[in-house]
Amino acid sequence: MTKKILTILTIGLWATCICSFSQTKGELRTIQVGVYINPPLVQIDSTGKIEGLFIDVLNYVAKKRDWKLTYDLFSLEGALKAIKENKIQLLPAIAYTSQRTQDMLFSKTAIFHNWGMVFTSVDSKVENIADMNGINLGLEEGDIHADAFINLMDDFNVSANIHWFESQEKIIEALKNGQIEAIAANKLIGFTYRDKTLLRETSILFNPVHVHFTANKISGQLLDELNADVLTLLENDPEIYNNMITKWFLTPKEEKHYFLTWPGIILAFTILVLITTLLFLRLKIKAKNKNLLNELQAREANEELIAQLENEKALILNSIEDQVLFIDRNYNILWTNKAYKVFANNNLESKIGEKCYKTLFNNNKPCSFCRLENGNSIDQTHVHEHFDESTDSYFLIKTTSVYNRKNKLIGFVKVISDITDKKHTENELIKAKEKAEKDDYLKSAFLANMSHEIRTPMNAIIGFSELLEDEELEPDQKRSYLNIIQSNGQQLLKLISDILVFSQLESGHIEIHCTTINIVDLLNEVYQQFTTKVDIHTHKNINISLNTSIIQPELLIITDTIRLKQVLFNLMTNAIKFTKEGEINISAYIEKDMLVLEVKDTGIGIPNDQLKRIFKRFSQVENPQKRKAEGSGLGLTIANDLMAMMGGYIDVQSEVHIGSTFKIHHPID
Ligand code: ADP
Repeated sequence: MTKKILTILTIGLWATCICSFSQTKGELRTIQVGVYINPPLVQIDSTGKIEGLFIDVLNYVAKKRDWKLTYDLFSLEGALKAIKENKIQLLPAIAYTSQRTQDMLFSKTAIFHNWGMVFTSVDSKVENIADMNGINLGLEEGDIHADAFINLMDDFNVSANIHWFESQEKIIEALKNGQIEAIAANKLIGFTYRDKTLLRETSILFNPVHVHFTANKISGQLLDELNADVLTLLENDPEIYNNMITKWFLTPKEEKHYFLTWPGIILAFTILVLITTLLFLRLKIKAKNKNLLNELQAREANEELIAQLENEKALILNSIEDQVLFIDRNYNILWTNKAYKVFANNNLESKIGEKCYKTLFNNNKPCSFCRLENGNSIDQTHVHEHFDESTDSYFLIKTTSVYNRKNKLIGFVKVISDITDKKHTENELIKAKEKAEKDDYLKSAFLANMSHEIRTPMNAIIGFSELLEDEELEPDQKRSYLNIIQSNGQQLLKLISDILVFSQLESGHIEIHCTTINIVDLLNEVYQQFTTKVDIHTHKNINISLNTSIIQPELLIITDTIRLKQVLFNLMTNAIKFTKEGEINISAYIEKDMLVLEVKDTGIGIPNDQLKRIFKRFSQVENPQKRKAEGSGLGLTIANDLMAMMGGYIDVQSEVHIGSTFKIHHPID
């Protein structure tokens, strides 16, 4: 209920507002204007608004006079009737005739000057009034030019079939559909329907008239006001009037055409939409093309950059000596550098796409050391050495993981370095180091021994020399002491001699001086020397024998006598030293084009596993049960080195507790 009351109050309030507004507006005078269509003097636009030259002049006046104009649309005839009957106050665009002054008041000033003209269809042959006899002629009801033309035809005794129409529009329609061939009307009809395919102007001009505003008979004051303002317009504001003329007569008129109808508007709208869509699509395609072009350019630039990087990568990786391989997650070789290719052509199948374990290591499955297999150490570079038996080469292989931008493992880079030379040098260094260590040890042992080896005979010499001072000594005892002194002296002499020769050999100061000698003579000399020696100095029960019967007694060899004697001396000394009793046999024979001098004893012998080391310096046969043998451990080293210098060598055969056979191989030539 309250709601209803509120609604009523609101409506009432609004009504009051509207009324008061109307009252305010009520100060405007409402002028009823009748109009008929006579373009461009008076016409209706597409929205139904009345416009035209006379309406512009009327608006000019209305603005000055605070008039509110209301329009009623009539045919020309209807409008003339309406003004006559005071149904409208003003009627614009009426041609002046004295007859019309009976029904209406004319404005003082004519707004427009007009005349009649005959128009025909474009294919008509009508050129002058005489040609119009019998043709179908269209006239507008109430049109002053219609009456004038009928009079003109009467004057020329021309009779046409006259068709009357309500409006100019309908006359034009009739011309279009062929109902009429010609129109006699005011010249403006030609201006309005300027379509050359529709209307053709003829040279038939008639009935010049002045076109005025008119008022009904009781609106004289209204017409006076209008007269005054029209005069002001023409005299004081000629530019405004000129603009009006320009607007309605000089500005190309929008042709009333097909598009102003609803289907036309829809069609135009559809075409507009289509054109807009097409333009939009075109713009879009253009933009897309531009994007594509940009993308293409970017891609080309990218590809160029990639090619450049690829080139640089290849240049860099190909210029290094190490082999570089890129391997995918499935062990396939994807890329190799030049160093690998060179190596592979020589040694391996270098096919891209092969499994690395097959190509590199000739394995049928991934290698046990491969980092791919041992996923735990995937983030560190895996390094391992590989020895290739087929090429006798050592390689250092470094395997490093490669990740893409999304941190996903995509493969591995293997860098393979040939370290064969380095490895050999390293091995040699290790050997040299071991040897140096051993030499150092041996030298230390040697020095320790030397003090013992020198002291022992020296003590004996000094001790027994002192004993010889005793004048009461028996002659046998004296001889015995002298023997001991001489034996130890010999031992000392040999030791000093060994050390001297050894140091000469080590420093490269020994030279070989060869002469031609009779070998049997030399062997006899050695035999004599040692037979005496054994008898006198050792008192051992050893029988020394010499057998040279196999060789020719006059056999000559070229040798360094002193050095060869020294070698034989060392072998004989050892044979006597390591034989308690038994036989020592010296023999000579030819074997494989070489002279062999053999020293064979029945001494303690040498264990097989130590046969090689006895030729090494400072080496003696190790025998934990026995006291270390006297000697420097240099005798065989010296003998072996001297024989090598003379182009020969020494070898040995031995059996523990049975004896040893040392053979000197000497070249014959
Ligand atoms: P040394 O001066 O110590 O004898 P050598 O170089 O002459 O040094 O001999 C080295 C070692 O070889 C000897 O210490 C000994 O153990 C062994 N040897 C050499 N000749 C014989 C041999 N005829 N019978 C047994 N052992 C031998």
